[in-house]
Amino acid sequence: MQFERLKIQGFKSFVDFSEFVIEPGLTGVVGPNGCGKSNLVEAMRWVMGESSYKAMRASGMDDVIFSGSGKRPARNAAEVTLVLRNDLRTAPPAFNEADLLEVTRRIERQAGSSYRINGKDVRARDVQLLFADASTGARSPAMVRQGQIGELIAAKPTQRRTILEEAAGISGLHSRRHDAELR
Ligand code: ATP
Ligand code: MG
Repeated sequence: MQFERLKIQGFKSFVDFSEFVIEPGLTGVVGPNGCGKSNLVEAMRWVMGESSYKAMRASGMDDVIFSGSGKRPARNAAEVTLVLRNDLRTAPPAFNEADLLEVTRRIERQAGSSYRINGKDVRARDVQLLFADASTGARSPAMVRQGQIGELIAAKPTQRRTILEEAAGISGLHSRRHDAELR
């Protein structure tokens, strides 16, 4: 699966609807300090199911919603959609007929997050597994935070194994096994 586009509205500094087309190959994001480059990457991490608000540099999940500026009032909701090309037909069976997958996460103040895939309500877990099976996701080695390379070097062997398993695309299987063992 390949990223096709990213749509953001009300998330952090992206108060108005913004749409970014992601062409095949390498994409660079440039701009002055504080223009929202990190917020853009965080929007991708968030729609993939990030559950830690600390990873969003926030003090609560509602903090990802645009909090107002000098001229603009705060928003009550944020929504991010990541559109994926399903050309290799590797999506979960329920969605595998579609050429494009639109994965959406929405948050409303004091009401928490909801997720949709192609308009159908799904659980956070479904979205997290979709990305884990595609060897990516909010916590995967495909999303490298500042300082993370240093953490990898200092990690214990078991922690490093987790990272390698995520890179190999088998962390979704481990996660399912864990669920099965709990039942
Ligand atoms: P740098 O080059 O310094 O890394 P950057 O382009 O990565 O900068 P970001 O960290 O993405 O910048 O954006 C910071 C801006 O986002 C700040 O101006 C901050 O006020 C704004 N911001 C963060 N959260 C919110 C929010 N919830 N509502 C409104 N603005 C927000
Ligand atoms: Mg930054």
